[in-house]
Amino acid sequence: MPQTSPAPLRALLDAQRAAFLEDGGVPDTLRQARLQRVIDMLVEHHDALCAAMEQDFGGRSRVFSLMNDVLGSLASLKHARDQLPNWTPREPRPSVAPFDSFGATAWVQYQPKGVVGIVGTWNAPLFTLFSPLASVLAAGNRAVLKPSELTPRTAEAVAQAVAAFFAPEELAVVTGGPDVGAEFAAQPWDHLVFTGSTAVGKRVMQAAAENLVPVTLELGGKSPVLLSPGADLRNAAERIAVGKSSNSGQLCVAPDVVWVHESQAQAFVEALDEVWRGLFPTIAGNRDVVPVVNERHFARVESYVADAAERGARVLLVGGWPSAQGTAERRMPLRVVMNPPADSEIARHEIFGPALVLNTFRELPQAVAAINAGERPLALYYFGSDEAEQRWVLEHTLSGGVSINDVCMHPALHDAPFGGIGASGMGRYHGREGFLEFSHARSVYQAGSHDPRREWGMLPPYGEQFEAMLRASVTR
Ligand code: NAD
Repeated sequence: MPQTSPAPLRALLDAQRAAFLEDGGVPDTLRQARLQRVIDMLVEHHDALCAAMEQDFGGRSRVFSLMNDVLGSLASLKHARDQLPNWTPREPRPSVAPFDSFGATAWVQYQPKGVVGIVGTWNAPLFTLFSPLASVLAAGNRAVLKPSELTPRTAEAVAQAVAAFFAPEELAVVTGGPDVGAEFAAQPWDHLVFTGSTAVGKRVMQAAAENLVPVTLELGGKSPVLLSPGADLRNAAERIAVGKSSNSGQLCVAPDVVWVHESQAQAFVEALDEVWRGLFPTIAGNRDVVPVVNERHFARVESYVADAAERGARVLLVGGWPSAQGTAERRMPLRVVMNPPADSEIARHEIFGPALVLNTFRELPQAVAAINAGERPLALYYFGSDEAEQRWVLEHTLSGGVSINDVCMHPALHDAPFGGIGASGMGRYHGREGFLEFSHARSVYQAGSHDPRREWGMLPPYGEQFEAMLRASVTR
């Protein structure tokens, strides 16, 4: 019977799995060498990668690409390289009584799962591939990466860089759009990492379920900022401006909705405007303003703002409007939309661009109740100095992570898990928790030198004495 050759993607997975099984254990030194090779690759190719990101975005500055994608990825990779010897040793565990008295021992050993698929996004096209890869390689796995098709030059540059440093059965890249993404999610990986939107994340999880593939879903959402009435408004405005302007709001943890006391809304907007104008004296042609990635996303953000305005929401312009509006430049100032109606586009969807919702409250718990009525966000931000209130906010909300008196900082914690909850995702990478995510925690029991069960009457035919012993063990 003629054999049909497997699809290239499946063939790649099969080749990686065969090499993984052939290897047996993956010593720390090999894991560290692989991490080092990714580090060397990024160091060698960072100029080409930054140039590709600059072109893909139509002018994303190399400063931002270096900060966010190159150095962000390198920090994760170096942390994993340096810390993994502390993570990999087997952990002794108490064994089973009474066999432990006769030499029975037990331990948990962390083994690589095998081959991990990693799907990345366009907004942080290196970070969303290489930061999870740090945890994946630290755990001893092999991996196939799928960059986003919306940043095609970067995808190609990543494919070339990886091919120059790795054999395809160790680390490989496949490129393509949603069709390739769907095919990717349908493969029987040993684990699948998906970074992207909540809508596509649901489809990915459905496809993975067909093969019972465990998933790490790094999704988005509407990350809120809570401004306590006691917060330093000027400081909050500056930090929110810096966080929101990063990648022009095209970050999964970008502040999306700011909650402010109604008496402070005006002062906050004025402070934000002043800070913004200082950071970005011009918008058009300003290399520090990252363009919105393409016309479709530019039109999407525009339509959210226009929809809110049509529904009667007040829209405030922060910074000057670019003279190049309508040209291919796609650099957009920040617009603040005040108290948009709940059914407006901007209130219902993650903004993921240079617009911000400002909602007012009379009492802080109203804001917390509104946040809790929505989907669980990826990030939550609190500004204030009242410790009791801060504790109350942390105890009464849930989100992937939190930054206090700042925004967008907790994803930079390389020794703490990064991930979402509910609609913002599941699972995590970074730190020991990332290592655990991509390891199989395998419990091992090792019998001792002597088995007392026969002489203690613990084997069938069971006697009264054994039953009495069991009854005596039924205790509180
Ligand atoms: P997206 O969901 O449109 O695409 C993400 C990736 O999925 C791309 O590589 C795409 O080709 C692929 N894909 C598309 N259809 C697929 C399918 N059916 N099956 C499998 N893969 C498929 O997201 P995006 O526009 O690239 O990124 C923006 C979203 O990602 C935002 O919601 C943002 O919040 C989120 N995000 C999250 C994180 C995080 O770490 N939590 C980081 C960056 C971005």
